Parts: sequence; structure tokens; C-alpha cells
Amino acid sequence: TFESIMDFSEFKTDEKGLIPVIVQHYKTQEVLMMAYMNEESFDQTIKTGRMTYFSRSRQCLWVKGETSGHFQYVRSLTIDCDKDTLLAKVDQVGAACHTGNPTCFFQPLVGSDYDETNPLQVFESVYQTIVDRREHPKEGSYTNYLFEKGIDKILKKVGEEATEIIIAAKNPNPEEIKYEMADFLYHAMVLMVERGINWEDIVRELADR
Ligand code: AMP
Ligand code: ZN
Ligand code: ZN
Ligand code: ZN
Repeated sequence: TFESIMDFSEFKTDEKGLIPVIVQHYKTQEVLMMAYMNEESFDQTIKTGRMTYFSRSRQCLWVKGETSGHFQYVRSLTIDCDKDTLLAKVDQVGAACHTGNPTCFFQPLVGSDYDETNPLQVFESVYQTIVDRREHPKEGSYTNYLFEKGIDKILKKVGEEATEIIIAAKNPNPEEIKYEMADFLYHAMVLMVERGINWEDIVRELADR
């Protein structure tokens, strides 16, 4: 439990009494998410040491992690120069984003620190695109077609693509196996999303062996 130098009433909130909070990982400084606090959620955050927001969509107090278990433990809270934005540094349990991504900011728009030659970044990005398709179905999307057909169709495709790797491997042309491996990995990721497994789960398993 903490004590704040300033009272919430000294902050400059919007007309609904909300103040934006930028959330960073206390160790890596990675920007994790942005959310809003009202006075009650600020006071509760100070009191409990767990980041508590005001959900604008649900119009209620929201303890981050209350359903996912992905709590955020307060390390520091800082107010900016004109007192209209909070900065929180937190010890994040699991993923900050409800999609399972470590940070909410994974969708590049302009410019980019996204490196399309970095396998980890590409896997993460393709995975997130699949999650996004499931949450926001897109007309004519093959990924949505697979989700609509369901688990049996997805499993059938994973099996087929695995077989195609074997066939391709017998072909001396290396282009073929690249193509089939990519196909297989994509379908494996659709299965991962369907079953709620993310890359972090898989690499943790590999690292633990
Ligand atoms: P949680 O607080 O992690 O248990 O998640 C509860 C609900 O809050 C989720 O189902 C989402 O609707 C929402 N949520 C969780 N994390 C975020 C986030 N980083 N940004 C926006 N909404 C979120
Ligand atoms: Zn300033
Ligand atoms: Zn400001
Ligand atoms: Zn998010």
C-alpha cells in the first residue's frame, strides 16, 4: 500500500472525471497499455497496490487482471507537467493486452520498428492478425472461413499441411518445402488461437525443457 503526494482532486480530468494513464513495465520500460482512472480507481490503486481503472466501455471500476489473472502491481505513479496524464510503472503478470500480446501496442501504422526479417516478430505479428480476424471477422477472409468451419476443419488442414511438408521434402527444389512449412505454421497458429495458446506459452515450454 502506497501514499500519494497529491490528491486526485488536484489533477486535471476530462468532463467525466477521467484521467488517462500510460502504463509501462517497470523493468523494461516497455509501453504496455493506456487506460483511464477516475478518483475511486485512483484511490483504490494506491490502497491495494493493484492497477485499477475505470472501464469506459463497461462504465465500472476495473481491476486489471480481475478475470484474466494478469494483474499489474504498482511500482510508481507519476503525474505529468500539466497534471492531465498519469504514468504508471508496473510489475505486469502475464500479458497486458486482452489479446494475449505482452503489450497493446503491436499494430504498426506509420514507419516501424517492425523487422520483417526477425522470425519472432513475424510469428507474433501473424498470430495477432489471426486473433484480430477472429474478433473482427473480415469479408472473404480464409482465416474466418477456418474459424467458421471449426476445430475439425482446422485439425484436418494441420494434418494435410504436415503431410505436404513430407512430400515437399522429397522434392529437390527447396522452394517447395519453404512454402509448405509456411502453410503448416500458419495453420498451426490458427489452431493455437482456436485453443487459446500463444507463442509465449510455446517458447516457455521449449525453454523449460
Ligand atoms: P482483465 O482485466 O485482464 O481480467 O480483463 C478483463 C476485460 O478487460 C477483458 O475481457 C477486456 O475486455 C478488458 N481488457 C483487459 N485488458 C485490456 C487492455 N489492455 N486494454 C483494453 N481492454 C482490456
Ligand atoms: Zn510537458
Ligand atoms: Zn499533460
Ligand atoms: Zn490490448
